[in-house]
Amino acid sequence: MIENKIKFAFIILLLSIISYFIYNIKTKEDFIPKTIEKLKQIKFPFTESDKYDYDIIIVGSGLAGLSAAYEANNISNGNLKICIIEQESKYGGNSMKATSGINILNSPIQKKENVKDSYDLFYNDTRISGKYINNAELVSTLVNDSTDIFNFFTKQKVDLSKLGILGGHSVKRTLRPEKIPVGFHLTSTTYNNIQKLNNIDIKLNTTVTNLIYSKNDNIVKGVYYYTSDNKYKEKFLKSKTVILATGGFGHDFSDEDSLLKKYVPKLMKFPTTNGPQTKGIGMKIAIKIGAAVVDMDEVQLHPTGFVDLDNRYDNHKILAPELIRGVGAILINQNGKRFCNELGPRDYVSQRIIKNCNLAYTEKIKQYEAFIILNQEALDEYGGNILFYVKKGLLRKYNSIEEFSKVFNLNSTQVKITFDNYNKAFDKKIDEFGKTVFPRKINPNDYFYAGIVTPSIHYTMGGIKMNKDGQIINTDGNIIKGLYGAGEVTGGVHGGNRLGGNSLLECAVYGRRTARAAYQFIKNLN
Ligand SMILES: Cc1cc2nc3c(=O)[nH]c(=O)nc-3n(C[C@H](O)[C@H](O)[C@H](O)COP(=O)(O)OP(=O)(O)OC[C@H]3O[C@@H](n4cnc5c(N)ncnc54)[C@H](O)[C@@H]3O)c2cc1C
Repeated sequence: MIENKIKFAFIILLLSIISYFIYNIKTKEDFIPKTIEKLKQIKFPFTESDKYDYDIIIVGSGLAGLSAAYEANNISNGNLKICIIEQESKYGGNSMKATSGINILNSPIQKKENVKDSYDLFYNDTRISGKYINNAELVSTLVNDSTDIFNFFTKQKVDLSKLGILGGHSVKRTLRPEKIPVGFHLTSTTYNNIQKLNNIDIKLNTTVTNLIYSKNDNIVKGVYYYTSDNKYKEKFLKSKTVILATGGFGHDFSDEDSLLKKYVPKLMKFPTTNGPQTKGIGMKIAIKIGAAVVDMDEVQLHPTGFVDLDNRYDNHKILAPELIRGVGAILINQNGKRFCNELGPRDYVSQRIIKNCNLAYTEKIKQYEAFIILNQEALDEYGGNILFYVKKGLLRKYNSIEEFSKVFNLNSTQVKITFDNYNKAFDKKIDEFGKTVFPRKINPNDYFYAGIVTPSIHYTMGGIKMNKDGQIINTDGNIIKGLYGAGEVTGGVHGGNRLGGNSLLECAVYGRRTARAAYQFIKNLN
């Protein structure tokens, strides 16, 4: 009798396990179309009198999202209930990868080093680099607010003591820490400070799929999401405001609804420096409720993604930061010749590489390869972080021009002539490629370091349309109430080409602005 009962229980258990798997396989197949169908008929599941889960939901835990959260807490003296939602198991997004620096006008370091900078210089550098496609008001706000960003971070005990120059800047205005990569330092410090606050919840492994939106009132009141342990069950959270800080679409290579494929199909085979989470989901969900977009076809190729000689055709490239050229690296091609002003804007340097260097082409990837060369003095000025690239074998030491030329099959006499000509240009401050800032000479008779670099998708300048307070504008030109955006998810600040160091700045400036605008909106609701 007991034996039969055990057998029966065992059969029931077995049947449950089998049906669980059948159900999940079926649900998995159905999930995508069902979700898309569902997103088309957005429900508005609650009324004004219902209780909100949060005052502010921030989607994305990169520097833009974290700056917004930190600022919202500060201005409200901890009186707002805030939730940060992040799809990955770790916070930080692409912000963690930034290595070159953040631009600040009139920082104490500029003053200490007697750098003569001004609003006009910084504003014009940004507009010129953006080919004047960028929005004048957004650029002006970026530059004006930048000075205070120094305090915003240093009050949090961030080190921004090193000053450098990146391509396209008229003067040195890019700050970074002495020892730690800048993006990691800014993002992790802000995150750690936020973690200490009781009124901010952080939900990792949680993907926002849609916004709760009332078309009648043109207002956003929360988000739909799923968690990574149950991808097939969509839930929702109600919030008075939502800030999208979901980053760009520089890794959106999917066949289905790829923004890269839609706006810049010619780049689909280029490598990328962005992490695989960079798929433009925030833009897609905002577009679904009518958000306007700007400059979506403006995608920045960073000229120098490192080619790993041990994994040459991997489509993800570790960035060779602009600072490597900022401390004096030169670029040469397979003829052993320079072909550009190494400190020109990114789009210019990328185009010069594409025009003057050999193309390595496989079915999956298209990469134009140049050599990047720098000496020990440049390495020392860069600081300890550069050893990461040396350890990874991305920069390798060559004892002489002959040794280097032999490895890469170059004409060593020509390479020597190139070094000599560069040193002459340094002395005369006249360069055939128009270089005006010469960090240092390069001795043709000494050892040096070299690697291979290739233009890689790096930054998507376009995004959802915002005003100077980060409020999102719809295709009718109206503000979508309760919805804000900051960082790479938005467009308009950088136009045709982003200046190095302006993205981290944008995250902080517009992250803070969205927080203040959302706080004001919440106060008016009450
Ligand atoms: C290698 C590299 C080096 C760089 N160096 C510099 C530099 O030196 N200076 C500079 O100014 N800029 C630099 N940039 C650019 C800059 O780092 C980024 O543009 C900027 O940090 C973007 O910040 P963000 O907060 O907008 O987005 P991210 O930091 O990318 O964060 C977005 C987050 O949102 C999450 N997310 C997306 N969709 C969802 C969703 N639906 N639900 C939940 N979460 C979601 C993502 O997982 C991600 O964590 C660099 C970029 C790269 C890739």
